[in-house]
Amino acid sequence: MTTPNAAPSYYDPADVLAEVFDDETLADDLAAYLTCVEANVLAGFLDSTGRHDGAQCWLRAHRVGCNAPHRH
Ligand SMILES: [Zn+2]
Repeated sequence: MTTPNAAPSYYDPADVLAEVFDDETLADDLAAYLTCVEANVLAGFLDSTGRHDGAQCWLRAHRVGCNAPHRH
């Protein structure tokens, strides 16, 4: 018998990192403080884990104050 919503039997740090940063509110609060490279790396990481909307949130939020938006 399987238990719905059971905790995973392993800890995947990359999955936890992606889950934590797949957050539009966090992106709105922090993206302006990231360098262009940091924003791109984080968005690329989220994209690689299938969190495409989260990746776009970070890029959108970062572009607001970015003086080189063509880099994203
Ligand atoms: Zn930028």
